[in-house]
Parts: sequence; C-alpha cells; structure tokens
Amino acid sequence: MIQVILWDLDGTILDFKAAERNALINTFASFDLGPCTDEMVHEYSALNDRYWKRLELGEITKSELLVQRFEEFFSAHSIDISFASAFNAEYLLRLGDTICFKDHAYELIQSLHGRVKQYIVTNGNQIAQKRKLDNSNLLPLLDGVFISDIIGAEKPTKEFFHKVLLEIGEYNKNEILIIGDSLTSDILGGNNAGIRTCWYNPENLENPDPQRFHIDHIIQNLNQLPELLR
Ligand SMILES: [Mg+2]
Repeated sequence: MIQVILWDLDGTILDFKAAERNALINTFASFDLGPCTDEMVHEYSALNDRYWKRLELGEITKSELLVQRFEEFFSAHSIDISFASAFNAEYLLRLGDTICFKDHAYELIQSLHGRVKQYIVTNGNQIAQKRKLDNSNLLPLLDGVFISDIIGAEKPTKEFFHKVLLEIGEYNKNEILIIGDSLTSDILGGNNAGIRTCWYNPENLENPDPQRFHIDHIIQNLNQLPELLR
C-alpha cells in the first residue's frame, strides 16, 4: 500500500508550458524587447529544456543555467545580452503568476489529503516555486515541500532523495511513490532512491531506455492515480 506520494510540480501538477509562455511574453513586454512570437516561445522552450537536461547531468550550475539560457536566446535574436540577468529575475517572478493545473490535479490532491502523505519534490528555482505554491493554494493540502535549491542537491541525485526520505520519516521504500513527467529526474531519481515510480506520460511516449529507467506504473491522466493506489 502506498502511504507517501512524492509529487513533481512542473509538468505534472502544474502546466509548466502555459506558465512559461505567459511569463516570457509578459517579461518581453516589460523590458520593451519587441514582440515575442509563438515561434520564439517554442524556440526558447526547447532551449530551456536543453539547459535543464544539462543541469540534471551536472554539466552546469543552476545559477549559470538561469542566466545563460537567456543570453543564448537573446544572442540568436540580436537582443543585448546584458539584459539577461535582470530579465531572468523578473521572469522568475512572473513564472509563479500563472497557475494552470494538469488534469484537475488540485481536486485530486484534495481528495487524497488525509489518506496518503503528499510532498512536492522539485528542481525549480526557489523564488518561482514558492510563488507558484502560494498562488496555487496547494500548501494546506501538502505535508511538505522539497525544493532542490534549499536541499542543496538536484533530482535525480541520491543525495536529494536521501534528505527527503530522512525528513518524511520511517516508511518502507515500497510504500513511497514518486510521480513525475521526467524520466531523467523523477523516474531515475526514484530508482536511485529505491522507491516506487509512476511516470506521468500524457503524450503516451515510449520509454526510450528500459534498462535505465525502471517504471512501476505509467499513467496518461492523473485521475488514473486513485485506482493505482487501491
Ligand atoms: Mg516535471
């Protein structure tokens, strides 16, 4: 029986792409950088994903990632890169302003409240993540929040999960389930920690490397979760 759920936040509970789009367009307007087209949003989003993958691989630090992603993006669009740091600071605040849940995740978390312990495990920036959590009204429903910036280690490292498991108390590892959309941070992290894993896979993608990513459950919609917990 699952007693504890470790929830990924971005792309699992919250629609990160919607928040990213809004934050980018609004920060462009506030810095008077001209229009930010749909094409530019897609381009930035792919570029940003590459930077986060590099962070998971330990090739770059979080503070380098946050500014360099905008330096690279600005360079490609002939925008002065000296704006990158200030732009990032405002972007992070705006990122927390758009709360859009995936699959009625709020109601789901509410319905599980009191039945299982629920924690957030996230690699996002702490300013943005705290703002999102405040705006989402999720905090009263949660038993705790683990943000990598505060822990001092990122998913999928053993160190991150070691600290999480220490904090949540004594459970068998097979009573703990991580749910997330990322194979490289959530599923691999769960595997590193020896806990059960649930891949939230709304686009019905293939597991590209079953040797590497051990997935106990796959769901395409979060509302498949209550059945899985029975
Ligand atoms: Mg995610």
